[in-house]
Amino acid sequence: MTLMKSWVASANTAGHPFPLNNLPYGVFSTETLDPRCGVAIGDMIFDCRAAEEAGLITLTEAALFDVPFWNEVMEEGPELWAALRARLVEILAEDAPQRAEAQPMLVPQADAQMHLPCLVSEFTDFYAGRHHATNVGTMFRGAENALPPNWLHIPIGYNGRASSVVVSGTDVRRPWGQLKSPDHDRPAFLPCRRFDLELEMGAIVGQPSDGPVTVDEADAMIFGYVLLNDWSARDIQAWEYQPLGPFQAKATATSISPWIVTTAALEPFRVDCPEREVELLDHLKDTGPMLYDIDLAVTLAPEGGLPSEIARTNYREMYYSSAQQLAQHTTSGCPMNPGDLLGSGTISGAHTRQRGSLLELSWGGKEPITLESGETRAFIEDGDTITLHGRCHGDGYAIGFGTCEGKVLPALDDPYAR
Ligand code: MN
Repeated sequence: MTLMKSWVASANTAGHPFPLNNLPYGVFSTETLDPRCGVAIGDMIFDCRAAEEAGLITLTEAALFDVPFWNEVMEEGPELWAALRARLVEILAEDAPQRAEAQPMLVPQADAQMHLPCLVSEFTDFYAGRHHATNVGTMFRGAENALPPNWLHIPIGYNGRASSVVVSGTDVRRPWGQLKSPDHDRPAFLPCRRFDLELEMGAIVGQPSDGPVTVDEADAMIFGYVLLNDWSARDIQAWEYQPLGPFQAKATATSISPWIVTTAALEPFRVDCPEREVELLDHLKDTGPMLYDIDLAVTLAPEGGLPSEIARTNYREMYYSSAQQLAQHTTSGCPMNPGDLLGSGTISGAHTRQRGSLLELSWGGKEPITLESGETRAFIEDGDTITLHGRCHGDGYAIGFGTCEGKVLPALDDPYAR
């Protein structure tokens, strides 16, 4: 696969995140257009609602784009997904006869505000990166007991809150919570002091299930991927997490990037999961390459300052693929729905600057990292903007994810003041 050329000139620029090969799906609005589905092409957005209303996209009898979310497209299933992508390629390709008709349906991304790309029906977050689980386990339980006994056998996760998922660009307020320091006898209700990020990918489930599905079936149910920052209050987490796992520590917000990069665009970047140390049970066995080679980075910009890259890693570092996580999620018969969001778990590599959280980068706060400005960080400070970046490097083209960004605002003086 090489660069597919478009009549939208910016899409052909070397290294552009949104060439014709990508065509990620989002929801946008402008001063004059209410929220609607669109496709990123170069620096522009192609307005799918306008195209459907004009008869340029006619794949179903009922309208697909009369709603400002992608769930209706997802519900139609993989055949429709392929037909829609083929039609968009046809309309936007270099010599497209539809060029004159389609040209007025382009909106500059610079003029658009982005919204959540789908109605998030449910949110589950996993703990499926081996380096991350090993680092955190070593800090909390010692190197001998770093991985819990179940870890090499099942992707473990917790049921999160769809209501707290926000689109990139949304500010995040530092939470208050119940904290207990080992030095004090009693817990106290205070603003979080160890607010953190988690670099993750989010898989968006596009098809429903009713009963257990195989890894292959799960792979075919996934519609696409976004960047995901699972904001985490480490001090709240440390006190509340036993025995039922994270609760309020993870409920402040989870940010996702606005563009769903489809599995079709990612197909050339499939890679195998790592070697298995112990054989997985049959229902979770790898059946082919189900991870993707996606270069990931995290930047931190202090208030009014320039961003510093604090971590760089790759999605292929995961131990379990999203297909395996989704298959595991259905083993009990748990029904899945279009718009279900699965967080991969924090993605860390083997080396110190490949760690996808400040908890690991600063080793529990003991070894603060130094930014380019000379400032140091153990955890996030008020006014810091955290940005996740993702990109696949193809042969003469890139598949970009855009960014997943959030600025941390100071805690309220007293959340119970009335
Ligand atoms: Mn997480």
